[in-house]
Amino acid sequence: MRKRNETILRQIPAALLSWYRQNKRTLPWRQAPTPYHIWISEIMLQQTRVEAVKEYYTRFIQALPTVADLAACKEEELLKLWEGLGYYSRARNLQRAAKSVVLYFDGELPSDTESLKTLAGIGDYTAGAIASIAFGKREAAVDGNVLRVITRLTEDPTPVSDAAYKKYLQAALTEVYPKEGRDCADFTQSLFELGALVCKPQNPDCKSCPLQGICRGYQNGTARSFPVFPPKREKRIEEVFVFLLQTPEGFAIRRRESGVLKGMNEFPSQTVWDETPESVLNEWGVYDFTEVKRKKYTHIFTHIKWNITCLWVRTGEVPFDAYSLDEIEETISLPTAFKQCLSILAD
Ligand code: SF4
Repeated sequence: MRKRNETILRQIPAALLSWYRQNKRTLPWRQAPTPYHIWISEIMLQQTRVEAVKEYYTRFIQALPTVADLAACKEEELLKLWEGLGYYSRARNLQRAAKSVVLYFDGELPSDTESLKTLAGIGDYTAGAIASIAFGKREAAVDGNVLRVITRLTEDPTPVSDAAYKKYLQAALTEVYPKEGRDCADFTQSLFELGALVCKPQNPDCKSCPLQGICRGYQNGTARSFPVFPPKREKRIEEVFVFLLQTPEGFAIRRRESGVLKGMNEFPSQTVWDETPESVLNEWGVYDFTEVKRKKYTHIFTHIKWNITCLWVRTGEVPFDAYSLDEIEETISLPTAFKQCLSILAD
């Protein structure tokens, strides 16, 4: 099976490179593919769609044009730039890594994957992407797009969550990389591009695919059966109160001390066991209040679903800092799970 796979892998570069050069999309990080630009774009693209990333990327690079700027940036400014992208540990790791690059690599990202992987938030995939795209090295980068394309080409039934399979594929693909330089950069991106534009998750466009001549999934009509995913884990459901506590100074905001989104700003919230809104407010020392309105919405994390009851409450004093709506909009970073609560003000 592996031998047969490798025969197919060897035929990919020749078939894909010219297709990529004719069909590649214009994307902001492709305009000037410096190591810093590729790094930022790759981290943003994890778990986030290309269309959503474009605007964030452009704003981020304008605000923080160099590794040194990222290393020196205030955390609140960084999180504000990231607001809405989710998975905020990515932003924190970016800054930790930028500080290491300034300290240990003279402010320039290293070009070899082993050094890249010493940096926070950079694993096999991101190291391969930076080394090949930005430095033209013979290093594969195996993400979900690449796994989908290769498992369809080879009809490989190994579940894509299998870490050993990913490692094997990374090594096997690296073996078939073209010679160092622009071809390597383009080959990595050609696999991403084919997965995004042609070998799409639901509807692979096999008729216009440059790899149909070597694709077993296409030839045997099995493409849609791949990749094989492990059974989905049920999400844990939590009931959560989110309080829009309005005081004369503005709306209360505090830092989350535990659980999901730990360390991020929030409108004061409470996971509900047997509490009532009144008992939670009393626990915070808030006794004199008026509930203006309440609204329900949901927010989905990777393994958890929040059923949120947002309560807009007017009161005098609260044991938290308070900010005006303008300040919240311009300077305070708020995860989407909380920010959507503001819609209650407009309803
Ligand atoms: S022929 Fe179809 S299944 Fe095979 S790689 Fe191309 S789009 Fe994917």
